[in-house]
Amino acid sequence: MTEFGSQQTAWISEDISNVLAILPQPWLIVAKDGMLLKASERALELGVVLTDRVENLDLLNLIAAAADGENVTDGEVILPKTRTHEEKVLRIRATHVCNDVLVILEDATEERRLDEVRRDFVANISHELKTPVGALSLLAEAIEAAVDDPASLQHFAQRMRRETARLSSLVGDLIDLSRLQSDELLVTGEQINVDALVTQVLDDVQTVAKNKDIEIVVGGTGNLMLWGQRDQLASALRNLLTNAINYSHPGTRVALGTKLVDDFVEISVVDQGIGIAAADLERIFERFYRVDPARSRFTGGTGLGLSIVKHICAVHGGECTVWSQEGHGSTFTMRIPKQSPLINNLDANRQGEGAEK
Ligand code: ADP
Repeated sequence: MTEFGSQQTAWISEDISNVLAILPQPWLIVAKDGMLLKASERALELGVVLTDRVENLDLLNLIAAAADGENVTDGEVILPKTRTHEEKVLRIRATHVCNDVLVILEDATEERRLDEVRRDFVANISHELKTPVGALSLLAEAIEAAVDDPASLQHFAQRMRRETARLSSLVGDLIDLSRLQSDELLVTGEQINVDALVTQVLDDVQTVAKNKDIEIVVGGTGNLMLWGQRDQLASALRNLLTNAINYSHPGTRVALGTKLVDDFVEISVVDQGIGIAAADLERIFERFYRVDPARSRFTGGTGLGLSIVKHICAVHGGECTVWSQEGHGSTFTMRIPKQSPLINNLDANRQGEGAEK
């Protein structure tokens, strides 16, 4: 802890100092007027005080309320961004002790950010579900009105099937995402032959590629092995290949390459398609972010594919990177460690256990 100024803080005996030292939260002791008397190192690191007094008006008000009040004063304070610190949300508990005020701080910035992400996600899901459900309801009405017109009936039924397929891939993607975010991780991992994985996924996407007159060529190092969850890795690669096909012009090529770089298996999907503008590149892995929502909806995209790929790579201890140039094409590369991060941990634990014996 750091002491400030020469003001009297006689009530802070050695015992009290010891209690303060073991508090897990950052804390400050201030005089009623906001003059700083003592502070834990973590409170100073938070940037809540930059000089020898509290300057944030909201925090000063809380301190004044705690100094005059009977009970503990709770509140929240937003520290604006400065040259040295990012914006922070602090949860505050303050109470008066003798003539001073003890302020306990909790950094709630990350929690608040996650709340926002969650809220956005739920709002996005609701919106995405509403569109096909609304369309289905309208189509059902249209079918009722067209019972005597077989051609219209067929047309509406086909559209119903398309909307149902959209709903089902959205629900499927949501289930995939929620599974990835649960802590099951790689419990069901196994040794996977990369060639077999590639063949399996190529099989799944070949029809879509042929329909669009896109040739998929495979190259690189053969017989690579990696450790992971087969269905997840297949789903990630399928997503990348489907995107490469969907965002390419007919008659172009998609190349799939495999290689080993520093104990990481790299699987790249290269297309000669529409590419992605630099401004969009950093956002495409976000859930529901689409460069061109109309085009993505037309191809049946859910806007969740790349976020699933990103999570799958992360769960495997790897990452997915992208290079792209608008109008020229894109390269997505999954980098997955050859060996499980979990196995490394287990090995480390085993060695630790051995050392203790
Ligand atoms: P979607 O279901 O919309 O394809 P994704 O999460 O898979 O959602 O991708 C997000 C967005 O990134 C897409 O809507 C598209 O704008 C862009 N994108 C993804 N892959 C490619 C690619 N190979 N070429 C061009 N744009 C792509």
